[in-house]
Amino acid sequence: MYSLPARIEKIVVETEDGLIKSFYLKPIEGALPLPRPGQFAMLSVPGKGECPIGIASAPHEEYWLFSIFRTGLVTDALHRLPEGTIIGLRGPLGNGYPLEKFREKNIVLIAGGFAITTLRATLVYLLKHRQDYGEVTMIYGARNPGLLLYKNELNEWQKREDLNLYLTVDVEAPGWEGLVGFVPQITEKVAPQGENAVALVCGPPVMIKFTLPILEKLGFSPENIYLSLENRMRCGLGLCRHCNVGPALVCKDGPVFSLSELKRLPPEY
Ligand SMILES: Cc1cc2nc3c(=O)[nH]c(=O)nc-3n(C[C@H](O)[C@H](O)[C@H](O)COP(=O)(O)OP(=O)(O)OC[C@H]3O[C@@H](n4cnc5c(N)ncnc54)[C@H](O)[C@@H]3O)c2cc1C
Repeated sequence: MYSLPARIEKIVVETEDGLIKSFYLKPIEGALPLPRPGQFAMLSVPGKGECPIGIASAPHEEYWLFSIFRTGLVTDALHRLPEGTIIGLRGPLGNGYPLEKFREKNIVLIAGGFAITTLRATLVYLLKHRQDYGEVTMIYGARNPGLLLYKNELNEWQKREDLNLYLTVDVEAPGWEGLVGFVPQITEKVAPQGENAVALVCGPPVMIKFTLPILEKLGFSPENIYLSLENRMRCGLGLCRHCNVGPALVCKDGPVFSLSELKRLPPEY
């Protein structure tokens, strides 16, 4: 699959520290398949390289949305680009969440830090197809309020009666009226019971480590807990095997895996 040119139509600085920016892209040539929530794409900057970024937009949305943490060669180059620049977009890649399997079930989305990206795509999809799903809950935590992404949307989502949205920060902050506490603690208090429910969890390893036992305690079976892996990868197509976890390739078999699938793989992810 080749990289196609895409124009950066809009850039939003998401966090107070300026380290996360959202890029709204529009492919300008050729047709790309619509992305499924949970998939990723390779973004490239000429002369710098290419890196995998989760697709934060739902398939019906106008732009392809990517929220990017400035950390290394490619993401630093992306952060320096102005609106209107053309970059390379290769995707969608990977499997995405099996959302058809979740119909009629209660769904809890659990996000920590900027790993919310593909869960934003999932939530926007679920709200568009709201009647097909049971209760929808999102638990989203950041270290402080200035690090929460998609603030305008969070405000809108909080007004909805068909969504339970719980925002939390690690410690009290001036003006903060939401919850205070780590994501696992909040999950224990507000998540639905595991019966007829699925949990999608994206966040830093420490959050995942402490959230999984709570979900299991609430009765979620490993088949109904989904994680998204972020192994370093190169081709994104299952050819170079750079991102393997035992026999599984994160780029092709993932990045979304159920906990039961991960339990069958070597613990090297
Ligand atoms: C499926 C998937 C989805 C992702 N989604 C997002 C997303 O939505 N938003 C986002 O911001 N990021 C996302 N990432 C992470 C992103 O792809 C990486 O941070 C990527 O490395 C950034 O590329 P870079 O060239 O800017 O950084 P790099 O130059 O690759 O450096 C990134 C970091 O890794 C360190 N590093 C460099 N080389 C190595 C090495 N060989 N081994 C270990 N560490 C090394 C660097 O010191 C630096 O801290 C995703 C990754 C995957 C696999």
